[in-house]
Amino acid sequence: MGLTPAEFSSPNFNDRPKDIVPNILVIHYTGMQSLDQALQRLMSSNSQVSAHYLISRKGEIFKLVSEEKRAWHAGVSYWRGETDINSYSIGIELENPGHDFGYSKFPKGQMSVLTELCVEIINKYSISPENIVGHSDIAPRRKKDPGELFDWKSLAKKGVGLWPEPILNKIALESFEKSLNDFGYEIVDLRSTITAFQRHYLPDKVSGISDATTQKTLATLMSLV
Ligand SMILES: [Zn+2]
Repeated sequence: MGLTPAEFSSPNFNDRPKDIVPNILVIHYTGMQSLDQALQRLMSSNSQVSAHYLISRKGEIFKLVSEEKRAWHAGVSYWRGETDINSYSIGIELENPGHDFGYSKFPKGQMSVLTELCVEIINKYSISPENIVGHSDIAPRRKKDPGELFDWKSLAKKGVGLWPEPILNKIALESFEKSLNDFGYEIVDLRSTITAFQRHYLPDKVSGISDATTQKTLATLMSLV
């Protein structure tokens, strides 16, 4: 393995339920002004939050919780019928100020380390491409991360996650809502779910409205899984 993470130890984890192998990979941004602040928060027992890894903008990688343990990164969430996402997932945080503090692109060095780490994890646990998700995909009413500046497309080109291309030129969905749910998303507040879907798969068209392009994009993704 090419990556050598700096080993830290966050207290914010517990055991996964017995015999569980992770089958979801969740990508986050830290949403804080500095790397130090983010590290402090992820390491402080008061915060009750953590992730398995944190990758800085410079591409340094920090291991905070052992993969076999249940890190506390997802919170109230839903994906493909599962609500205890922490038990079933690996969580990776990316240093980025986020939408509240000057959201900015994810630098190349950070993305290449992330790609390498994701490939390793996906191969180790055989995680399916449709289960490579952002925090907003699993918690659309609460979360925006990693957001529309995150380059899911380049990640997919390297074998990490799905990318809907070419987009099928037909709306083949009986029910858009049901299909979104079948694909994995919660349908509690449809507008936030559509927004989350667009942040991930149509980052140039984040409107919260299910227009024809959004429907075709979902139909394309459904044809890939
Ligand atoms: Zn998050």
